[in-house]
Amino acid sequence: MIATNKTHAPELSSWVESANAADCDFPIQNLPFAIFRRTGSTEAFRGGVAIGDQIVDLAALGNAGFINGDAGEALANGNKPTLNDLMGMAPKYWSALRLALSEALATGSASQETVSGCLVAQSDVEYDLPCVIGDYTDFYTSIYHATSVGSLFRPDNPLLPNYKWIPIGYHGRSSSIGISGQEFHRPKGQTKPPTADTPSLGACKRLDYEMEMGIYIGGGNAMGDTISIEDAEDHVFGLCLFNDLSARDIQAWEYQPLGPFLAKNFASTVSPWVVTNEALAPFRAAWSRDVNDPQPLDYLTGTQNSEQGSYDVELEVFVETAKMREGGEAPVKLSQSNFHHSYWTVAQMVAHHTVNGCNLRPGDFIGSGTQSGPSYEESGSMLELSNGGKQQIDLGNGETRTFLEDGDSVIMRGYCQRDGAARIGFGEVSALVLPAKD
Ligand code: CA
Repeated sequence: MIATNKTHAPELSSWVESANAADCDFPIQNLPFAIFRRTGSTEAFRGGVAIGDQIVDLAALGNAGFINGDAGEALANGNKPTLNDLMGMAPKYWSALRLALSEALATGSASQETVSGCLVAQSDVEYDLPCVIGDYTDFYTSIYHATSVGSLFRPDNPLLPNYKWIPIGYHGRSSSIGISGQEFHRPKGQTKPPTADTPSLGACKRLDYEMEMGIYIGGGNAMGDTISIEDAEDHVFGLCLFNDLSARDIQAWEYQPLGPFLAKNFASTVSPWVVTNEALAPFRAAWSRDVNDPQPLDYLTGTQNSEQGSYDVELEVFVETAKMREGGEAPVKLSQSNFHHSYWTVAQMVAHHTVNGCNLRPGDFIGSGTQSGPSYEESGSMLELSNGGKQQIDLGNGETRTFLEDGDSVIMRGYCQRDGAARIGFGEVSALVLPAKD
């Protein structure tokens, strides 16, 4: 069972006042991890935990010396330039550290004075990737996205026959995954519009985002072993926001027969904060397959997966054009969806990924695939919002888009909200498009 505990209690408050605001992404019930240092400093990057608008510096907290036992062992792995070693620990260590942090940050904590000396303002820091991502796999778990993209690329055959049996995925490239706030050059590549006889090389004309969830693997498995669906959750450290930037014109020409390649490995971006699987416990929901669809094979079926396999995470995407930025206008929301629309669960992705004995390692990264919902307003990409580039998206300020233009910044946000639980958020992931290099 994915149980809640005293760290999730909605009545808990923190002596860090900013954490108690109703719309705060980082109340004491969240406690997500990141890797940070003070902006522009030569400090070592190290682990931190968000509380309100502050960060608990795990290196400083470790030096304070009052957290011991399993929590202390976990804390020692937070004082490193990556979270891989923390992610590789057994879940009981993650839980012990979460409980210790919750007690230290709670209103009335005896250690308030000590811990207040370990806080750094989020406004003063820069982030690095949370871990070294050894391997990255991108799935394709929204049937709504798969069907609408399939109908644009293959009008006569939108959803391939394996879709409802296999969590479809491909091995991506980890070296090109960057941290939120990055600026990247529009990629160049080989494209062939349907009207052209031969392909040519040039700047991508159909630059798009994909609104996804990212999943960080905790403890791995030895090569040759499988992770059963019942054990899969113990191997999930946490979730983040993921913008899988995509070059649609490059993709359309290159993707058959082996799938995406250069259309996907130029600037995909993660949010700095990793919300732990434990923090998400109050926002789990039952999962079931439509009775009219094939039911999953046994290795993709489990009691816990049926009862709690789904995650209720609201996902939003905004664009901020250069004109908006210069005019001081707020970014415009393009769409909003929810991770609970996913056709396959995280546990099913992990079980399927390892069913052949493929070894996952701490810090490996899984993209959920674009999380489009059933309605147009829940489209997770501009490819869908613009109907393959045929329909202008009205930004409401006199500007329109079909795909991203130079100077556009894409911003994604995510949060969980449910009666009887404290709202928690993922912060945001942003990425800014620069012109293609000469
Ligand atoms: Ca993707």
